[in-house]
Amino acid sequence: MTTTRFAPSPTGRLHVGNIRTALHNWMLARQAGGTFILRIDDTDAARSREDYVGAIRADLTWLGLTWDREERQSARLDRYEAAFAALRGAGRIYPCYETAQELDVKRKIQLSRGLPPIYDRAALRLSDADRAAKEAEGTAPHWRFLLDHAEPIAWDDGIRGMQKFDPAQLSDPVIRRADGSWLYMMPSAVDDIDMGVTQVLRGEDHVSNTAVQIQIFTALHAAGFAATESAAKMLPAFAHEALLVGREGKLSKRLGSLGCDAFRERGIEPEAIIALLARLGTSQPVEPIADRTALTASFDLATFGRAPAKFDEEDLERLNAGIVHQLPFEAVAARLPEGMDAAGWHAVRPNLAHVAEAAEWWGLVTGPITQPDFAEEDKAFLAEATRAFEQLEWRYPDIYPELWKTLTQILGRTTGRKGRALFLPLRQALTGMDHGPDMGELLPLIGESEARARLAKAAGIA
Ligand code: GLU
Repeated sequence: MTTTRFAPSPTGRLHVGNIRTALHNWMLARQAGGTFILRIDDTDAARSREDYVGAIRADLTWLGLTWDREERQSARLDRYEAAFAALRGAGRIYPCYETAQELDVKRKIQLSRGLPPIYDRAALRLSDADRAAKEAEGTAPHWRFLLDHAEPIAWDDGIRGMQKFDPAQLSDPVIRRADGSWLYMMPSAVDDIDMGVTQVLRGEDHVSNTAVQIQIFTALHAAGFAATESAAKMLPAFAHEALLVGREGKLSKRLGSLGCDAFRERGIEPEAIIALLARLGTSQPVEPIADRTALTASFDLATFGRAPAKFDEEDLERLNAGIVHQLPFEAVAARLPEGMDAAGWHAVRPNLAHVAEAAEWWGLVTGPITQPDFAEEDKAFLAEATRAFEQLEWRYPDIYPELWKTLTQILGRTTGRKGRALFLPLRQALTGMDHGPDMGELLPLIGESEARARLAKAAGIA
């Protein structure tokens, strides 16, 4: 049973990078008929905010990324306490007393000698008496997880292929602060075990965290921490996607602040965002696919490349137009101008880049419109058009779509005009515009008496 999770820290709004991770995890779960968990990583009480939790939920809902279960780290502190006790009992956690400044000095010295800034495990060498002295001074310890240096850490990454880390090249991570609060590293692994997460898909900025977390998983399994038999053995499958960069190929500040509010304000449809983010950075073509089920079915980690995925706002605009052209009336009805019906939507839809523009085109139907000044020759042609207009059968709505064709055929015969000379003055007279939605669809919407009046006015005979 596939279980994935999206684990945002509620310290800000979701940006496109987060949305992409959420989407991919949602797709993995939906594709397999599995479970998608929204996990709020709120162990950092100082930076986590309830309004951000609400905004994360609202954004995911707007995007249609429904979750089957919500979990919160702040509600699971007893489990972290239990995991801590289990790891400590197994000798995998040790207290440290260095101040931030001391650690900083150590790092600087290492760097100045050309050495990697790896924690030197000085705290491991403290005697009981040393520790007692520190505590007597009133220094509370912070806690590190003791990495096992015996063997390389390896996993077959769903995107990056075989990954290998020498644990000796990593610092033992601090997992708990001196005030007792938790850092990200251990609670995340504890949650993945307890929640039966089978696939962890996240950004490549987490690759080295995965190396550490694999050891935390294994140590917790060995300590008999997992609640169930199956959880006691299982390591999730890991995959790390290349980061999203701006069009110019750099990690851009702009992307970090680009989220659902900005998209909504610009009239970008959730389906356009989904269509773009589902395939960006993969070998599959980015197309305006409005059918999420189809996108989900074709989602495949094997198609992901290792190069950063370029997020281009122009691509998004292009996709948005493509998506808008496919949206059914029911999907947009609430956002359309008063009185605009399914036929109206169908008529204007191909001319829109954003749904909100429907109102401008609808104004051509409801009027008033501003006609151009016609040359005498065109006025004569339009006078002829008012006569041809009287031959149209407005009694049978099922032939309304044919009215425009009939009108132009009659006029073509009677005036000898064709092409632009035939169509443009008619369009201008009926809509006041040189271009726009299909006249075959617009004419019945404008309606018999209004269309007649517009033609007569343009011909100067009204
Ligand atoms: N809260 C972490 C983050 O936002 C979650 C990482 C993970 O998926 O484990 O980066």
